[in-house]
This record gives sequence, structure tokens and C-alpha cells, in this order.
Amino acid sequence: MEYRRKLFSFPTPYDLDGSRALFLQAIEENVRFHYHSCPEYQKIAQAQGFSPRPLQNEEDLAQLPFLPTILFKRHDLRSMEGKKFLLTATSSGTGGRPSSIQFDMDGLFCGLRMVLRLGRYHHLFSPVPTNYIVMGYKPRRDNHAAAVKTAFGATLFAPAIRRRYALLYRDGKYVPDLDGVIQSIISYSRSSLPTRFMGFPSYTYFVLRRMEEQGITVKLKTGSKIMLGGGWKQFYTQQVDKKALYALAERVLGVPEQAFEEFFGAVEHPILYCSCPNHRFHVPVYSRVIIRDVHTLQPLPYGCPGLVNLITPMVNAAPLTSVMTDDLGVLHEPDSCGCGISSPWLELLGRVGLTGLKTCAAVAAELLSEVKL
Ligand SMILES: [Zn+2]
Repeated sequence: MEYRRKLFSFPTPYDLDGSRALFLQAIEENVRFHYHSCPEYQKIAQAQGFSPRPLQNEEDLAQLPFLPTILFKRHDLRSMEGKKFLLTATSSGTGGRPSSIQFDMDGLFCGLRMVLRLGRYHHLFSPVPTNYIVMGYKPRRDNHAAAVKTAFGATLFAPAIRRRYALLYRDGKYVPDLDGVIQSIISYSRSSLPTRFMGFPSYTYFVLRRMEEQGITVKLKTGSKIMLGGGWKQFYTQQVDKKALYALAERVLGVPEQAFEEFFGAVEHPILYCSCPNHRFHVPVYSRVIIRDVHTLQPLPYGCPGLVNLITPMVNAAPLTSVMTDDLGVLHEPDSCGCGISSPWLELLGRVGLTGLKTCAAVAAELLSEVKL
């Protein structure tokens, strides 16, 4: 798996042109591995008329067999056995069964290199001790949710002196403690150190709105950040304008819009997408995004909305090379953002379910009926 390692060690995280050959080689290597190691993947590939072959250009990526995320909720697809796994992560599973995905050690090291590279690029690291408000679950040994792990992981960007969680485990279940969080924010604002928020946008919004309703305003120290991730899907349904959230944070916490950092990722596609200064998710060298027509599943050009298909060679333990999400999105042309990052950027529009389309579930059902897994 030499190409994968080289790709995840690539020095410039948004140089898609410079890393293209390496990316295609890493994908080919990864596809070949899954094809020969995961019988279900091989069956699905054969049903789609696909066999591993060298990839000539990025257009060839559209030919890879893509697996709907729902498949990972119904089946435990693996390309490696037992003890080689280091970490299990599950999706939050709002309104359905969660996906449970396992990661191999080399894949995790690739992920670590990616996080270090992107963290440096986006100035997420700080040596200054920091107070943390985690807008998410307090970690427990038996909770494998990826949101818990990423929220905790984000508290490692700057040394944590205190962590306050919005969701506490009491009497066998998680309960929100928003008033407790507000008390912590007030006390952190009196400390001489910066405060970082990390977690679900919805909880962040609720807490800030409640503070404003109660007439509570504070001024967090310079260097404070509001990091959001793990919950954009839930956020769409609340129809909260991001601009309104930035303005609210400025009023209530004295934190400017530039202090926001947003993340996007999925258990089935564990690539870190960090927002640029214009709050957009550019595609890093570790992945590619294809937008597909919701009915024909054919790849669409830049600027057209459709289903989001995510591609990465990061994981060997499970066939995650090309996964079809039930998110709707648009991929915007390279160099169209204006922030200085040249790679295309992904705009998320919502979930298929919200618009009444069940395309992805239909695709999965079709796949399952054709292939006895
Ligand atoms: Zn940008």
C-alpha cells in the first residue's frame, strides 16, 4: 500500500493537479485489495460489470463500483479480519441504524498524517492552553460514535485545561445540559485563556440563542474559536442560516466570523474537510467528489446539484473506496472560491430524504436484490 502512504504524506493538501497520478495509483491499489479481499465487494463489482484495471484519468473514477452508505448500516462489510483493527466508529444513526466501520492501523496513520497536515494548513494548532466547550457527547468506553471521537480529537489541537460537555450520561442515557454549559462559558470568559467550542452546530446555536434570550453576553479571549462539525445534516432541517449563527456568536461571545472553523466528514468517508476563509469545503488531495444525477446516477458537471459520491483510498479494513451518500450537493469549479485554495469546493444542500427522494435507498435495495450478500 505504498501509493496510499505517499498520497497521505503529500506536502500540499490542496494540490489536486500535482497529486493526481498518485491519487489514481492509490485508488487502483485500494480497489484491487478490496476486490480480492472482500467477497461482497467483488460480487457488487461484478454485478456492475467492473474489474480492477489501471485508471487513466479522473473520469475513470466514475466507473468504480460505488456502495451506498445504507449498505454499511445493513451489512458488516470487511476486507480484513479480526485483530488488525484498531478502531471501530459508528455513525450517529439519527433515525435509523448506524453504520459500524472498522479501520486498519495503516489507514489510521494515514488519517493522522492528514489531520496534522490540514491542521497546520488551517492554523488549528495552538500551544496556548485552552478551555473547551464540547457541544456533543461526553465520551464513554462503550460509545463508538465517530462524532464523539472527532469532537474529543479536536480538543487536542490546543492543550485542553478543561473540557465541558453539552451531553452528559445520566441514569443510562445522554441528556443535554445547556444551562450547565452556559455557566461554564461565563466562567471561561473570566479566565485569561482562550475558549474553543467544538461539536454540533445545532447545540451551539441553541446555547447561544438561549444566552441572548437571557441577556447574557460575554467577551471570550483573543484566539477563541468556534469549531463546528458532525451535525450539518440535522442542521438543514432547522433552516438556520449560517450567517445568522456567525452574527449571534459575535453578539453573545464577542467572537468574530473569522474564528469559525467548520468540518465535514462521514464515518463511511473519514476524510477531514475543513472550511476555508469563505466557509467552503474544498476537496483535499486525499479524496475526490463526484456529483451524480439523482435519477440516472450519471456524473454531472460542475455547478449541477445531485447526489454526493465520495472517493478515497484511505481505508483497507472496509471497502470505502467509493461511497454514495444520501446527501445532495453541488461541486463548484476549481479557482471559483476566491480564497486562494485552487481545488473544487463542495456545497451541501441537504439530505435526499428531506426532498422526498429515496433514490439512494432504492439503489441499495436494487444492489441487494441483484447480489446475495
Ligand atoms: Zn475557499
